[in-house]
Amino acid sequence: MGDNIVNFYAGQPPLNRLSFQRQSADKLNEHLEAPNARFVLYKDLKPLVHKDEPGKLLFLSRKQVEARLGGPFQSPSPEDAQSKDRARLFEAAHLPHTLPALVFLGVDDRPDASSTSVPARADPMHPEGVPYFALDTGTEDWEIQGGAFGDARASGSAMSGWEAGVFALSRALIDWNVRNKFCAACGSPTYSLWGGWKRSCLTGIEPVEGKECFSLKGLHNFAYPRTDSVVIMGILSSDGDKMLLGRQKTWPKGMYSCLAGFIEPGESFEDAVRREVLEEAGIEVGPVRYSSSQPWPYPANIMVGCFGRAKDGQTIRLDLDNELEDAQWFPRSQLAALIADPSGSYLSRDDHKKLELKGLSEQELANALAPAEGKPDGVAQKGPLEGLTRVPPATAIAGQLIRVWAEGKLELVSKL
Ligand SMILES: [Zn+2]
Repeated sequence: MGDNIVNFYAGQPPLNRLSFQRQSADKLNEHLEAPNARFVLYKDLKPLVHKDEPGKLLFLSRKQVEARLGGPFQSPSPEDAQSKDRARLFEAAHLPHTLPALVFLGVDDRPDASSTSVPARADPMHPEGVPYFALDTGTEDWEIQGGAFGDARASGSAMSGWEAGVFALSRALIDWNVRNKFCAACGSPTYSLWGGWKRSCLTGIEPVEGKECFSLKGLHNFAYPRTDSVVIMGILSSDGDKMLLGRQKTWPKGMYSCLAGFIEPGESFEDAVRREVLEEAGIEVGPVRYSSSQPWPYPANIMVGCFGRAKDGQTIRLDLDNELEDAQWFPRSQLAALIADPSGSYLSRDDHKKLELKGLSEQELANALAPAEGKPDGVAQKGPLEGLTRVPPATAIAGQLIRVWAEGKLELVSKL
């Protein structure tokens, strides 16, 4: 049973993805040629935003990107179409393989696109609306009047719910395409299929330096977009009055957050929660339950939010994997007071800038809000701690888990 919480980047599907159309070049080209098609542009994984409003994506028209599209999606030739195995190597392909990534995101089919409410879709199979694509600039420089390529984290967290959804989807897909340009089996280049939702080894359709890829025989090595699962958990004391939060050394001053970590092969969500809390804080956890989830496009995580209850009579220890600088039990009243104070969970754009100046990478900053597995070298240097002054904002699922519990809404939201 989940908690019916709508997390940032999720909850109101921004687009009708029409995933069943991805194999059809004809369908995708209809969308691509639509005069109202809109394009989200990326350079080095930074989204094109309004120069004066970094929290607003600057969508481009078909005309503005025309010269850079590199032609329509392709269908199998009549000859290739005769063999099913051969035909699937050309389904909505975008060739040559050197073209910058182009991804069909879906259609905005909300009856009133200016509305922020959850869309009512009259006919999800044949929607009318605005087709959306994501396009990478590749190595080319693009000057767009009134636009700038904004810092992904700062821009993303300042977006409205609908745009944040488009951003989370498009950034994850562009990221996946640009980082999977070579075949995992033989190292040859890959090319794009299914409107940017699938990649395949180039040796399947053209010779590559005499290479033969074993992935083309038997079980094919098609690559699909990745989503890496992370558990993130609000761990309550056995009496239910305190929550376990921790911090990594690189995080913003005074910030504590929920413990988290990647789910490993062969683990259930519950197994991963119990393992991570034991490894990071030495605390054994009894009952665990799912709360809600959040897509986190830095670069491609799904955060699985859970609550768990610690077993009785245990002591926090940080020396098992040395990932955390500190972990403590915080009483509900302390967290509730922090959340009620706007400065207690606020990360301004200036904060983001300051953090960048301090040399925190985008990934480190993302981890500060939604901690992922760190691999510190040796034992963390333990300096004087500032104490808890901040928790993540409500746009991060950690912030939601803390709020739901601290504000006494846990039982309430648990009821469907
Ligand atoms: Zn290959």
